[in-house]
Parts: sequence; C-alpha cells; structure tokens
Amino acid sequence: MRKKENFSEWYPEVIEKANLSDKRYPIKGMNVWTPYGWKAMRLIDRFIRREFDATGHDEVCFPLLIPEDQFKKEADHIKGFEEWVYWVTHAGTTELDVRLLLRPTSETAMYPVFALWVRSHADLPLKIYQIVNVFRYETKQTRAFMRVREIHFFESHTCHDSFEDAERQIAENIEIIERLGKEYCLPYILCRRPEWDKFAGAYYTIGIDSLMPTGRTLQLGSIHQYRTNFSEPYNITYEDEKGEHKPVHQTTFGMAERLLGAVIAIHGDDKGVLFPPQIAPIQVVIVPILAKGSKTEVTDQCNEVYHELKESGVRVHLDERDLRPGNKFYDWEAKGVPLRIEIGKQDLTANVVTVVRRDNMNKDMIQRKGMASKVKEMLKQIQGDLRTRSEEEMRENIVLINSLDEVKSGVMMMGWCGEEECGHEIEDQTNLSILGEPVGSEEFEGKCIVCGKETKTPICAAKTY
Ligand code: ZN
Repeated sequence: MRKKENFSEWYPEVIEKANLSDKRYPIKGMNVWTPYGWKAMRLIDRFIRREFDATGHDEVCFPLLIPEDQFKKEADHIKGFEEWVYWVTHAGTTELDVRLLLRPTSETAMYPVFALWVRSHADLPLKIYQIVNVFRYETKQTRAFMRVREIHFFESHTCHDSFEDAERQIAENIEIIERLGKEYCLPYILCRRPEWDKFAGAYYTIGIDSLMPTGRTLQLGSIHQYRTNFSEPYNITYEDEKGEHKPVHQTTFGMAERLLGAVIAIHGDDKGVLFPPQIAPIQVVIVPILAKGSKTEVTDQCNEVYHELKESGVRVHLDERDLRPGNKFYDWEAKGVPLRIEIGKQDLTANVVTVVRRDNMNKDMIQRKGMASKVKEMLKQIQGDLRTRSEEEMRENIVLINSLDEVKSGVMMMGWCGEEECGHEIEDQTNLSILGEPVGSEEFEGKCIVCGKETKTPICAAKTY
C-alpha cells in the first residue's frame, strides 16, 4: 500500500481499511456512509455550520425534487446540467405530466420560492444555506468522496440589493474558506475560472482547488457571482426605497464531501488515513498494556484517564478488545487517530502515561498529573504541524513558468493575455486545464506564454481530477 508509487490503488485501500465508506451498495457511485466516516463528515459539517451561522446565514432544507418547468427557466443552467440529472417520470403507475428531477444543485428549487420571500429591500440581504444530498449522473470512474453520484453537499445562496453588496458576500465567503482550510488542514488556491469553464448560469466562478499527492488538483468547492442572471428569469425582485422593482443580485458557495477525500489524500500515509485532530472522530485512543499481576490496576488507570479526557472535551476511545496491543496499534493507525496513549505497569510505577503521535510516530512520556491539558496541547501541536507541512507542500508545487516546455507536475503559473484562443492553446499543448487567474495574487508583469503579448494577468493551470 504505497501512497507515492500508486496513489489510485492506495486511496481506496486506506478508505476501506479505515472503514470510512462501504462501496458495496448496488448502485455505482452511491456509497454507504459507515458510522466512522459519517462521524468525520459530521465534524467537517460542524465547522461549516459554525461559520455560516456566525456570518448571519440561516439553515434551511428544500425539497429534493424539482419540476422540469422550474428547472428550465435559466437557459445556460439547463445546458450545463442536462447530461447530469436523474429524472422521476412516474408516481406509482401513473406517468407524470411534469417530470421531476433529483436536485443536482438547488438554484432551481430555491429561486421560485425566493421570488415569494423577497418583497422589499428590507428583506435583503437574504442569506441561507443547506447541507443535503445532491445527485449527478457521473460517467467518469467513481471514487469514494471524490467522484460520486449521490453527493453530500453544502450550498449557500444569497440575495442582495446591489452588485457591490453581492461582491462583499463573496469577500466574506473567501474569509470563511480561509478559516475552514485551517480547521481541516487543507491548503488550497482560489482561481477565477476562465469564461469557458464557469458554472452554468454564473457571471463568474471562483474555484477552490487543492493539490493532490499525484500533482493533480482537486476542486473542493466554488463561489459564484450570479449578478441578475437567475433573478431575472425567476423574477426575484425587490421594491427599493423609491418604489421601483429591481432584480436582486445573487451569489452561491458550494462545497462537498470532497473535503473529506482531500484530507485523506493529503494527510494519509502508508499506514493509512491520518485525521487532523479538529476533525478526527476519535482524537485519542487508549490502549492498555496488560501483564499478569497488574491487570486490575492498569485497567482502573485506563478508565480514569479515559474519564478525565472525556470530561475535558477530548474525543477519546478506550480499546478494551481482547487483542494484542500490536494489533490494536495497527488498527488505530489505519483509522488515523492522531494520538495514542499506552498505559502499562511501568507507566503506573513512574506515574506517567506513554503517548505516541500518529503523524511522526514520536513516543513520549507525560506526567499523569495534568495529563489532560498536556494531551490537548499535543493535539494542537499535531494540528499545527499538519497544517504547516501541507501548506508548504502546496506552495512548493506552485511553479512559475516562462515556456510551455517547462510544464511539470503541480500547479503551473504563467502569463496569459486573456484571449480565449491562447487559453485553449495552453490546454491543448500541455494537457493541463486552466484553473484561472489566482484571486488576491501579488502584482504580476510578464508575457502571454503563447503569443508573447505583455500582460499583468497570471493564470494557473494543472492536471485536474
Ligand atoms: Zn496570448
């Protein structure tokens, strides 16, 4: 199970070994969330909820089914999605007059209702989000958490009285993704997608891309500025102070279970998965080292340590299975528990507990007294180290190039005149996809890598998943 040599074999193997997902369900690309995998996803969702609640968004839950006529109101949107949707054509034995589709995303479910909700400028901004499953008929090879047909999905939708206010929302979304990236230890770059690759119906799209160990990027999510592209066909208008009716300006922000897939891909190693402590379903596992004559004492101590950690808010598990410690170590390493505590006779005598970090396998002894706060400190340390390490790795693999002959693995940055023709030329010559212009990048002065025209616009391109 070598991550570096064969990532595409390694990835499903570590997921299976950690029991994060069961792909034996009889529909391809629709996997079962196991208890352990679901716990991890719920922790990821918890931070999303915290961020969106704190920035004035309300959580909602819209129906799964969308009537065909509602779906078809925005022309570009249908074009972008028609190959992807699942249709419901019958109810019982009756053929439906209006076919229904399973939401691939919820614009067309929400916007007819937004037209009823938004009346005057006092109703704005409207900021809502939901965490639901969406369905997309994926024809490429499916892969747990990365490319599936039933997707655990987050989406926020906002309405504003002006383009400028919608732009402020996008700036807020960028701040949110920065904080989430820290919690998940996920490095990423933000790129404004080129015109030919923006979301169906959007005015512009910012992609959130992370770099996988294979040198390919994986899109974790995206932020869209819709302007009035949807509010006009869906008639979402508000009455301004002068009594005039105007279409609202809209934004959306979407992310999915790929966040979990990226965590596994970036932090896992040849022992298995490795969870950053903030999203680890189990942060600390206690393994008793039992020997004849000290069983009761050691077991009692393990229970005490367990309760002490639990009370101080650590997600802790005591492994009392009738297995040899070595087997337990192997299991929990594969499951990615960031910190292991071993307690045996010697630890009791010395009044310590033995701790082993999953990320670097460093073994240490800490005093029994004040153990809980020391453990919490260590979890913070691991979180910080994983973050730094992955951020550095990503930075090192973003390379500025001056000629298309210099293309290698990772994210290539280069000058681009902005002409679509030159953009396609880059993609055709290199087999890379253009991610777009990096958002918030430093000033750039260079030449278009194809036509040589002076430009202040850099773009990023990479092989993508
Ligand atoms: Zn050019």
